[in-house]
Amino acid sequence: TELGSANDHSAILARALGVPAVTGVGPFLGQVEDGQTLALDGSRGCVWLAPTPEQLQELEQKGEARAKERAAVKQTAQRPAATRDGRRILVAANINGPSDVAHALDLGAEGVGLFRTEYLFLDRVSPPTEEEQVDTYRLVARQLKGKPLIVRTLDVGGDKPLPYFRSEHEANPFLGRRGLRYSLDRPALFKLQLRAILRAAAEHPIKLMFPMVSTFDELVLVDALIDEACAELQGEGLPFDDDIARGIMVETPAAVLAADHLVRLVDFFSIGTNDLSQYMMAADRSNAAVANLVTPYQPAVLRAIHQVVEAAKSKGIPVSLCGEMAGDPLAAPLLIGLGIGELSMSAPAIPLVKARVREV
Ligand code: PEP
Ligand code: MG
Repeated sequence: TELGSANDHSAILARALGVPAVTGVGPFLGQVEDGQTLALDGSRGCVWLAPTPEQLQELEQKGEARAKERAAVKQTAQRPAATRDGRRILVAANINGPSDVAHALDLGAEGVGLFRTEYLFLDRVSPPTEEEQVDTYRLVARQLKGKPLIVRTLDVGGDKPLPYFRSEHEANPFLGRRGLRYSLDRPALFKLQLRAILRAAAEHPIKLMFPMVSTFDELVLVDALIDEACAELQGEGLPFDDDIARGIMVETPAAVLAADHLVRLVDFFSIGTNDLSQYMMAADRSNAAVANLVTPYQPAVLRAIHQVVEAAKSKGIPVSLCGEMAGDPLAAPLLIGLGIGELSMSAPAIPLVKARVREV
């Protein structure tokens, strides 16, 4: 693509589908003619217009080597991932819907660490009903056969507007009404989703997770809405989980710096490095011009991760990481060293990351 960066949502979709991609190349599509050969190397972020035979051969060899490596690690994908000194790391998948689950399990997913439910709400003319949502969450959970499932509530706004609700124009949508802010502004829509998740959790090991949290007060409001939803379900005689585990995505600098307070209201943290990187570095994750700044490998972001782990330790709650960083095999040793116990990633990355964990 001419626009975008490696961690915006179109790139994440491509990665989940195993489609090689290079993003944010700048204006070039106008130079491409019909029938022209293009070559690309997603791992280096390079595109060749009309590559020479030598370039093509080199890239094809690289592609084959990569395919071989993937086939080899797939052999061990179903085995657990533990470091050599026996530290068990849970390796889970990020999914967008029920149709992603079989593929994730085939690649060795030990659960779903991030179900991006907003995809159920996009691409349609009205929001899904409670029954539709309950069916979808159950469908995912049934396929997982008892493996853990973390359902993230609606994360719209930013680069994912909801088509059927008119929203005010925002000059900076990533700094606007996004994630949990959006849900709290539409309590009826939000409560419906909470009810659906609570109902599905009656029979399955489901946890609740909230995106884009920045204050303690937001969590107090969330707790009140969960209590309301539970009281309603009770009144209606519908089975639900009255003690569901709740966690937050840590993806704003505010949540990092207040993690030692927020920890009082949650059962787990999951670090969203895609957003955390953009907000820590003050660089829009969908803007190609600043893409080089939006990386979790900056010391500022690594220190943020460390700080969140320390806050979690103070209460003894688990910390996972579900940004794209989790799927980078190079990052695994670093994240394990920092104290992360669970990595959730796009499914194609699972076998390689598991193999890497076993070498540490
Ligand atoms: C993140 O921000 O790291 C994350 C996992 O959430 P999303 O990519 O959906 O914003
Ligand atoms: Mg995010």
